[in-house]
Amino acid sequence: MSYDKNNIFAKILRKEIPCKKIFENDYVLSFYDINPQKKIHALVIPKGEYINLDDFNNRASDQEIVALSKAITEVAKILGISTDNGKGYRALTNLDDHGGQEVPHLHFHLFGGEKIGKMVE
Ligand code: IMP
Repeated sequence: MSYDKNNIFAKILRKEIPCKKIFENDYVLSFYDINPQKKIHALVIPKGEYINLDDFNNRASDQEIVALSKAITEVAKILGISTDNGKGYRALTNLDDHGGQEVPHLHFHLFGGEKIGKMVE
């Protein structure tokens, strides 16, 4: 499967459509999910063209991988849901068909602002 340059997050990265930005650096963009599933629902995406986490880990540079991982922590701090203040959140990424991925550009969901039920007991 090749990267679809017309996916919605690629359009957001090219500024063809707007987003409610939370954080940005050379490697990463974070913005609010358009259809929040929890009180706080943010997305963190790499700026590079990666379809999912497997594609990212196969092809991205160490710098890109570190930047994405650290951005998740940074965004949680900005949103006031970080573990620093004893709150916490859920970070997850869906991969491909069985994972229920809809947008084929790697993204981590950050859910927080309220207690989240367990997905796996
Ligand atoms: P997925 O199912 O893991 O691929 O999640 C895709 C997410 O992208 C969903 O939670 C959507 O609500 C979200 N989404 C789709 N279009 C937009 C947009 O234009 N801005 C922000 N979030 C979006």
